[in-house]
Amino acid sequence: MKRLAILGSTGSIGTQALDVVAAHPGLFEVEVLSAHSNANLLIEQAQKFNPNAVVVTDETKYEIVKEALSQSNVKVFSGHSSLEDVVQWDSVDIVLTAIVGFAGLRSTIAAVNAGKGIALANKETLVVAGDIVMKLAAEKGAQIIPVDSEHSAIFQCLVGEDWRTIEKIILTASGGPFLGRKPNYLVNVKASHALQHPNWTMGAKITIDSATLMNKGLEMIEAKWLFGLDNEQIEVIVHPQSIIHSMVQFTDGSVKAQMGLPDMKLPIQYAMGYPRRLDNKYKRLDFRDYAQLTFEQPDYKTFRNLALAKEAMFKGGNTPCVMNAANEVVVQSFLHNKVGFIEMSDVIEKIMERVAYIEQPSLDDYEKSDKEARIYAAELVKQSQLSY
Ligand code: NAD
Ligand code: MG
Repeated sequence: MKRLAILGSTGSIGTQALDVVAAHPGLFEVEVLSAHSNANLLIEQAQKFNPNAVVVTDETKYEIVKEALSQSNVKVFSGHSSLEDVVQWDSVDIVLTAIVGFAGLRSTIAAVNAGKGIALANKETLVVAGDIVMKLAAEKGAQIIPVDSEHSAIFQCLVGEDWRTIEKIILTASGGPFLGRKPNYLVNVKASHALQHPNWTMGAKITIDSATLMNKGLEMIEAKWLFGLDNEQIEVIVHPQSIIHSMVQFTDGSVKAQMGLPDMKLPIQYAMGYPRRLDNKYKRLDFRDYAQLTFEQPDYKTFRNLALAKEAMFKGGNTPCVMNAANEVVVQSFLHNKVGFIEMSDVIEKIMERVAYIEQPSLDDYEKSDKEARIYAAELVKQSQLSY
């Protein structure tokens, strides 16, 4: 029986993780659930899975949750510091980090520091502070198993291999809803349109990141840290069918790919069950449904976020952190129709130039860079709104 803390249990990854728990009775026990503001769903989940504790990080929702669970044994906490406490409990074996964005950083670090098994969905944590997180994980013996489908694919390709024989990794990208489109089209795109992803159903932020290809840029940086790669060893290829989830090319020229239908429950289940491969009854891949699997070079000129993320990866230091913060701001603004699709890249580029470079940032430096970038990005969005 593995005892789980699911951070961000009300989100797309969190709810699917609970589906995996429900589909495997006797294998997992839910110890902690957390949500930011969706009190109703958190209450419902607590009633169904009977965890030891829930954390609602939005403190204004504490009373509602506390009141609703007053007849149960479930402990109710609120605020981010509670999150950092509960992940360290002895009764927690695995922490699934499914909070979105920089907001997931501190709790992930707390879990790593306590040497917990980490099922990592919150890619922003590694984008921002991959150096610190991976070093700490090695020190504390915290094993990090990726949930992101591409990284799960690479991880699965590497089981039984010597990681020093990796020549390169090839991250596949669906290309998102605007594959093949040019700037003259993208300039008019609205959030409602960008939220319709062809192959995956996900939270709003990552869906916009998939439309801009920022998601693939974040994933390049995530892969660099997870697998200890040099920047030159990371390649992106567009594969619109999303059947090959990513590939590893080895030093003998051999390439391994991991495939399956695009369903996040598979990589979630793999990370939760690792090292066991658990069974399930989900729909199977039938190759006759896919007469062609196709591949093409990403359009770095049109989808500038991918080029910016690559640049940030090569620059290193606090640049990926700054880029991530600016991106979080513009994505929220885009979702509220306050900035245009193409302007998102303009803002990110300017913020990357504006925040002072720090070569070897401490955690405090990362927090400061994040705050600074957010303030500048919000200013730029406000200015651009006048012309938008
Ligand atoms: P989501 O928006 O659906 O859910 C986010 C969860 O985090 C919710 O439970 C929410 O309550 C919580 N949350 C939001 N803001 C918070 C804050 N400030 N403090 C504490 N909790 C907060 O997001 P998602 O799509 O499930 O993505 C979660 C993470 O997993 C992201 O980092 C994303 O990049 C990554 N990921 C998601 C998918 C996917 O298919 N959805 C795939 C790969 C990776
Ligand atoms: Mg992914």
